[in-house]
Amino acid sequence: MTTSPSTEPISLLGIPLDANSSFLAGCALGPDAIRGALHSTSGNDANEASVHVTPLLDDVGDVALSNERGSHPDADAITEAVRAQLAAQRQLISIGGDHSVTYPILRAFREVHDDLTVVHIDAHPDMYDDLDGNPLSHASPFARALEDGCMTRLVQLGIRTATQHSVDQAERWGVSMITPRRVSDFDPSSLSGPIYFSLDLDGLDPSCAPGVSHHEPGGLTVREVLDIIDALPGPIVGADVVELNPTRDLVDMTAMVGAKFVKELAGAMLARR
Ligand code: MN
Ligand code: MN
Repeated sequence: MTTSPSTEPISLLGIPLDANSSFLAGCALGPDAIRGALHSTSGNDANEASVHVTPLLDDVGDVALSNERGSHPDADAITEAVRAQLAAQRQLISIGGDHSVTYPILRAFREVHDDLTVVHIDAHPDMYDDLDGNPLSHASPFARALEDGCMTRLVQLGIRTATQHSVDQAERWGVSMITPRRVSDFDPSSLSGPIYFSLDLDGLDPSCAPGVSHHEPGGLTVREVLDIIDALPGPIVGADVVELNPTRDLVDMTAMVGAKFVKELAGAMLARR
């Protein structure tokens, strides 16, 4: 079968994991909440560029997980599920799940891309050596990914909780860690090569995204993050939207924000393969 590149589907993969959350459970309910918002009849299937993106998302279901804290078999299952999509030449958007999912995702991308730039939106640097004795904690995925050489460059945007340990980790690994105050100085067009985009919804201000476990005031607006996505030069080979905790959400508004990002990321991925 031959298909025009512009209409080749993007895989949508659910990762219902919250066992590596340090504070609250609930992120395991995130994938289905985003699916519900994505297909809600309150909206339609077009993105802001008037591309009908939702029908181009091929929902490949959820990764089967034990959802046990610090589980290496669960991490391996995530890596295997992503590997299968990449082997099928698919672009991939993963919906979580706590942020621990990003390390096993990036392990699979490392097998395909040796020059990956990761753009990471978050209130937190997520570079702890470990948290509470769990090296697979949602506070550590980028420490593990950097140790494993999963990327050549990491740019973190919206960070506003960095401890001295995190500052030291950023220096050690050459990470660009950018606070909300300096986000407007960051020029996405300065990036080159394949890009992976990791979006922790707590990078947003809690007023736009209350449905997260860790409320950290002073964050980014939805529009600021959309503008960053719009300015990424691409190709955007993969993305995740994580840390939606529906038990904390108000009238499903954070689920809708997550679905909005899925749609606009899909549009950016289609436009810049
Ligand atoms: Mn995070
Ligand atoms: Mn966070």
